[in-house]
Amino acid sequence: MGTQPQSPKHLEDWLRDAHAMEKQAEKMLETQADRLEHYPQLKARIEQHITETRGQVEKIEQCLSLLGTDTSVMKDMGGKLAAFGQGMSGMMASDEVVKGNMASYAFEHFEISSYRALIQAANKVGKPEIARICEEILKEEEAMADWLLQNLDDTTRQFLERSEDDDLRAKT
Ligand code: MG
Ligand code: FE
Repeated sequence: MGTQPQSPKHLEDWLRDAHAMEKQAEKMLETQADRLEHYPQLKARIEQHITETRGQVEKIEQCLSLLGTDTSVMKDMGGKLAAFGQGMSGMMASDEVVKGNMASYAFEHFEISSYRALIQAANKVGKPEIARICEEILKEEEAMADWLLQNLDDTTRQFLERSEDDDLRAKT
């Protein structure tokens, strides 16, 4: 009767990685939002994405439950960070909004590729519900990446104008 579904080992590993990635994303976005008082639109969009990111953590836990993984263990692995996220968090911590924006844009694409891989892995082992949940998350990541790209030029110009003003003030 057809082929047996494969073991979901990669799917489970990648869901765990995604869980760590989203926990890292939450921290990075919170750090960034704290420093954006002069960029209200960017701050509001990042705050929206913090809410989405918290929902994504829950969705990934739901996916792991569908695989029969005990997600209470996940809470104990909060310290595990995605290597990429660790590299990015240095840039995120920078109080320069342009560098934070570049890092966020790169990070969203890391997330996009992670969910695309998860969707393939879920379909491969016959877990369409997990694929569907990952598609929901993927749409949020794509929307965030698009928004950041749309706003990158404006944010950069605002930053340059602000730093020019600061230079003028310093001279008087
Ligand atoms: Mg995310
Ligand atoms: Fe994201």
